[in-house]
Parts: sequence; C-alpha cells; structure tokens
Amino acid sequence: ACAISPKAIVSDACASYSTLERLNRNVKPALDELTQTTDFFSHYRLNLFNKRCPFWNDENGMCGNIACAVETLDNEEDIPQVWRASELGKLEGPHAKHPGKRVQKERPERPLQGKLGEGVGESCVVEYDDECDERDYCVAEDESAASKGDYVSLLRNPERFTGYAGDGAKGVWDAVYRENCFQKSSFPSSASLGKAPTPRGPAALDFKAVIEAAGRQQVLEQQRQSNPLTPFVAKTGLEVEDECLEKRVFYRVMSGMHASISTHLCWDFLNQTTGQWQPNVGCYKARLHTFPDRISNLYFNYALLTRAVAKLGPYLANSGDYTFCSGELDQDAATRAKVLAVTEKAGSVPQIFDESLMFKNGEGPSLKEDFRNRFRNVSRLMDCVGCDKCRLWGKLQTAGYGAALKVLFEFDNSEHPEPPVLKRTELVALFNTYARLSSSLSAIQKFRNMVEDAEAAA
Ligand code: FAD
Repeated sequence: ACAISPKAIVSDACASYSTLERLNRNVKPALDELTQTTDFFSHYRLNLFNKRCPFWNDENGMCGNIACAVETLDNEEDIPQVWRASELGKLEGPHAKHPGKRVQKERPERPLQGKLGEGVGESCVVEYDDECDERDYCVAEDESAASKGDYVSLLRNPERFTGYAGDGAKGVWDAVYRENCFQKSSFPSSASLGKAPTPRGPAALDFKAVIEAAGRQQVLEQQRQSNPLTPFVAKTGLEVEDECLEKRVFYRVMSGMHASISTHLCWDFLNQTTGQWQPNVGCYKARLHTFPDRISNLYFNYALLTRAVAKLGPYLANSGDYTFCSGELDQDAATRAKVLAVTEKAGSVPQIFDESLMFKNGEGPSLKEDFRNRFRNVSRLMDCVGCDKCRLWGKLQTAGYGAALKVLFEFDNSEHPEPPVLKRTELVALFNTYARLSSSLSAIQKFRNMVEDAEAAA
C-alpha cells in the first residue's frame, strides 16, 4: 500500500528517509557479509583496458591519457608519489584473465589464467561464456572486445577518493546527463552520433550541439507528423521531455548514482598534503548537503534496488540455474544462504517501489526500448572514464542498475513469460551496487550528524 511511485519524491510520507534508513539498518549487515566475505561476490570481471572510449578520441582526448584525464593538484610533484591521483586511481591486487573457450575445454579443472590470490576459490569466481540478451540494459562486458576481461578484487580496490577530476570527469558526467534527452521514438543517440572520433575541447561542444540540433529536428518532425493540421509550433526538446515520467526516472537513477559516488569519495577522502584518509565534511556539504534533490535521488535508487533484490529473491531461491561455486558444495551453500539472507531482508517490508507505473502508456514499448538504449550508452560511456578504479566502480554500478532494471521490467513480462537468466557479472554488479547505496545511506546519516554537531557547537 505504501510503494514508492516513480513519480514520488522520496521524502513523501510513506517513503520517508527514515523508513529507508530503518530498512537499511536491517539489510546492511547481511549485505556487507555477502559482498565482503564471499569469493563469488567480491570479484568482478570486466574489460578495463581493452576497450576504447566510443564517443571521443581517447588518444588525444579525455580518457586513456592520464595527463588530461586525471586532474592533479597544482603542485603534485611536491607530494609523495603514493598520494598522487595517478597512483590512487590504479588497480590493486592480483588480476586473472577470463579463460578463453579453448582453455575452458582443455583445462576445465583450473581454467583461470593468472591467480587471484591466496585462499580465493576460483570455482566461485570464474563463469562460463555468456551471451547477450536483447533484454539487457547494459552492454555485456565482452562486446566488441577481443578479450573477455580481467577478474579483479573489489575488496582490494575500494571506491573512494582518487583525485580524478577536471575536464575529463566533467565531460563524462555531462555526457551521462545528455543521454537523458528522451524523445518519443528513435532519437539519434550518442552511440551513433559520437562514433567518429572527435578531439577534446571544442569538439566536445560540437558533440553536444549535434545532439541538441538532432533532438530539435526530431521534435519538430514528430509534431509535424503527429498533427499536420495544427499550426506548426517550434517547441524545444525540453518542453516535450518534461511530460515524460520515464525520462525523470532515468535522470534520477543517474543523479543518484553520481550522488553515491560523491558520498564515497567524500567519506573515504585522502588529504593529499597530510596523507590522512578521513571523512571530509566540506566535500559533503559542497556536493550533497546543499543539494537535497541529489540526496533524494540517492534514496530513490536505494528504494529501486531494494525492490529489484526483493523481487529476485524467489527466483534465486527456486531456480536451479544459479550455482555460485561450481564443484565446491560447501562454499556454494554458504554463498546461497548469504544471498537469500539479503533478499529476505530486502523483502521484509511491503513493496517499496512500484515499477508497474512505468512504460504503461500507449508508447510504452518504444519508450522502453529508448530507455534501454540510453542505459546501454551510459554503460559504454564508462569506457571514457580516465581513472582505472573509477572506471571499475562506474562500470560495475551501471551494470548493477542495468541488472536491477532488467529484474524490474523484464521478469513477469507477459511478452516473455520465461524470465531472463542473470549472468554472474550481473548478479555481482547488482548486489555490490546495492551495497554501495547501503553504505552511502549510512555515510549520509553520519555526515548529517557531523554538520548538525558543528552547527550546534558554533
Ligand atoms: P562533478 O561530481 O564532476 O559533477 C559535475 C557537475 O555535475 C556538477 O558541476 C554539477 O552541476 C552536476 N552534478 C554533481 N552531482 C550531481 C548529482 N548527484 N546529480 C545531478 N547533477 C550533479 N572520483 C573519485 O575520487 N573517486 C571515484 O571513485 C570516482 N569515480 C568516478 C566515476 C565516474 C563514472 C566519473 C565520471 C567520475 C568519478 N570520479 C571519482 C570523479 C568525481 O565524480 C568528480 O567528477 C570529481 O570529484 C570532480 O567533482 P566536481 O565537484 O567537479 O563535480
């Protein structure tokens, strides 16, 4: 009776912050246990280095080139190497390559090329080759890349301050929000518009202008086609977009993800001149406290992920498809029990987000296609992030939201009675994204208290 409508502001009566915070206090310990103590959920496979940024030229441009992508302090030469952004952004820990088909066949007993470290049950980490499904909201990690990617430890690479900032980072965020430029049919996306490599700087502006011009053209064309008899009114794309619920949801998911990343980098912040890792209240105030809409979007995402995880529970409990550790019965059972502990707790409250309100109007199916394509573009955009650790978490979280949307909109779908199977990477991404949001909620409450304490003391 009290589900969050995608239209609601999270601070609305029944979806108050405190409701979600109470729920989080219940879910968080189980979620931490799952993501921090199981091999299956603490390793993620992704193509971090073999993919090119598909939207602008990453040789001269914003990504892949540390000099322009990683903005450093003015006088970074004066601080120790280990505190510099170029070091903070690097990946830690052993990596292992995904086994090719041949290796999987020839050495089924030990297929991983490389080692993930002592005590890591590789049978819990390696998955079989997976194929794309048209119902995916993210591009599969192996799309158009020769390599299937590397396995990395998420525990060895926590999401925290890296010093990545400046034009490179801003360019990616700007492009993410530009994907929100919904139209009612096949609006040309940045995937097609951005294919030709464009240099950095002015060309990035051209890119924006091209999209805006194409958008206006499309809107005008639609108006003409939908009602050729009415006088021709030149509307901007924005006016048309404002009517669309799906567009608002898309924006909230992106903004909530951005807010969660900001929360982590402020919470686990390195003072690059003293070398101390500590929460940075000033960072929180500047990026979040003064922007209640961003915090509301973060809570919105928490509600959305909670619903997806709760909805997935019965499928995971009943389906024989999900083997967490092939060949290791004990670990498999332990991991399964930890997953189900999370899904049960997430489902312990009445349905918290009502996805059935979306994609319901006459244009539902085409809007959904558009929504999905935009989401895929954002996931491709993550290859333009010029800092390895940020790219890791950016990719993981877009994949996590993609998996959540797949569960919300593709399971119990009358057109496809068979629910799609979630790949290992999707499951790992989904639960780790939920864990990121859970830790953001908890950090925000602590930050809020710090601000209140400081104000009371002043
Ligand atoms: P940014 O955060 O870059 O924001 C750019 C603009 O977007 C702002 O000026 C504002 O207008 C708008 N904006 C900001 N927040 C929101 C919001 N929540 N909703 C809507 N609009 C908003 N840095 C790290 O230290 N560690 C990381 O792990 C990390 N991961 C990243 C992952 C990705 C995918 C990207 C693109 C960047 C990442 N960064 C990371 C960099 C970080 O997000 C910021 O870009 C950087 O700290 C510079 O911040 P800023 O204050 O200039 O504004």
